[in-house]
Formats: sequence, C-alpha cells, structure tokens
Amino acid sequence: MTTLEDLQRAAEEAENPRTRELAAGLITVRDRIARAAEASGRSDTPELIVVTKYFPARDVELLSQLGVTDVGENKDQEASAKAAEVLAEGPLRWHFIGQLQSNKAKSVVRYADWVHSVDRMKLVTGLDRAVEQHAPDRPSALNCLIQLDLRRKDHQDGRGGADPADLLPLAEAITEARQLHLGGVMAVAPLGVDPAPAFARLAELSAALTAQHPQATVISAGMSQDLEDAVAHGATHLRVGRDVLGPRPEHR
Ligand SMILES: *Cc1c(COP(=O)(O)O)cnc(C)c1O
Repeated sequence: MTTLEDLQRAAEEAENPRTRELAAGLITVRDRIARAAEASGRSDTPELIVVTKYFPARDVELLSQLGVTDVGENKDQEASAKAAEVLAEGPLRWHFIGQLQSNKAKSVVRYADWVHSVDRMKLVTGLDRAVEQHAPDRPSALNCLIQLDLRRKDHQDGRGGADPADLLPLAEAITEARQLHLGGVMAVAPLGVDPAPAFARLAELSAALTAQHPQATVISAGMSQDLEDAVAHGATHLRVGRDVLGPRPEHR
C-alpha cells in the first residue's frame, strides 16, 4: 500500500487533476477507516475495496498508480470491458459485488478474483462449473462470499442476498465445490434505517459461519455512508465508491 506521505504528495503535486482528486479521496477515506478502527479498539485495519462502477477504466489505472490493489464492480457488462481495458500499475484484484444472474457466471469468472454476492445454490454450481469450463487457467480458486439479506421480514428494498437460514447450507456447498473457496459473508445495510443493528446481526452470522468453517473470516460490509458502523462491528473488507471517486456519473 502507498504510504500516506506519497498520497499527500500526489494530492498536492500530481499534474493530472483527477489524480489529485483521487489521492485526496483516498486520504480522507483511509483516515476515516483508521479512526473508526481505533475507536472500536481494533488493532487491525480493514481492507479497502474501491468501488469503481460507472467510472471509466482510466480512473482504475490512476487508482492503481496510487497503490489501490482492490476494485469493486457490480455489473458484468461494464466490469468485463473495464477489466480488459485497464493496464494496472501493480497487482489489481477485481471484486464482483452486484447481483449476479447465473448466465453471467461464465463471464465473471474470467476476470473476478472475488464474488461477494453468492446468494443461492444455483449460483454456487454455476460458478463452479464456469471456472472449470471457462477459466481453467485461473491461478487460484474463486473466492466466494455469501451475501446475506439483513432486512427485517416486513421490509422490502431489493438489495439482494440469501435468507440467513440458508447460510450454512450454502457454505457447505461452496466448500464442496472444487473451484471455489469460501471466504466469508457480505451484506449491504438495509436502506433508510440505522445500519448498526444490521451489522451486529452480520457479525453474529459470521461467528456462526466461522464456528463451522474457521477459515471463512471475511466480513464485507460498509460503504461510504456507513463504514464507521461496519468497522465497529468487525468488517474486514469495506466497499467504498463515492467518497473516494466523487459523485457517480449518470446511471447508464
Ligand atoms: C455501489 C456499491 C457500494 C459503494 O457504495 P458508495 O456509496 O459509493 O460507497 C458498495 N457495495 C455495493 C454492493 C455497491 O453496489
């Protein structure tokens, strides 16, 4: 990871104004993460995944020059084109974080290192088969997180995810799949309510998972607006877009 001093220099002195902007965004977000970790008495620092959806491949390249190693995308069509176009400065991992149709599995496995949105059996078998048939040369198994739906039953906001009751069966299926690696859990906080109780619930579900699968320690939670609450509840990976890149261009 780039040092804070390097980022500060880039934020002030880089010739490209977009580089200065991105460096400033990274400084602010990294600072928020560090403060949140300290406030919750954590000695580790959660990983930052910069969500680049709707932003051009060039931004990913500039982020890579600034030391970013992990980027997130939520639509296969956009992500596959971008991944093919980007010339990264250093190691770059692509995280697929959006709802995934089974018929897109064969495309996603060609560029994604992680899929955060595994939420049904059909997708487990689909991804496993897709790696076998379409990406046999992958250097490692596909890291899968089980996306959980943390809405209360009477709430409907369509942010996706499996019923928490399906967590352990899905985990079992991923563990048995030859081309997949079980990483942990992921969630998006329900819209319009305090995210803290949802992240607390996610931490409980993660504990239930690691009791059976000790290696599956990842908790992917927290975005621009709620990363502090996610860090307080043990998030190991944060998915942050706007607060690094600025407001997203118009939806396509
Ligand atoms: C877009 C997105 C994010 C990032 O949200 P920001 O508000 O831009 O930080 C995180 N997670 C998922 C699943 C997303 O789709």
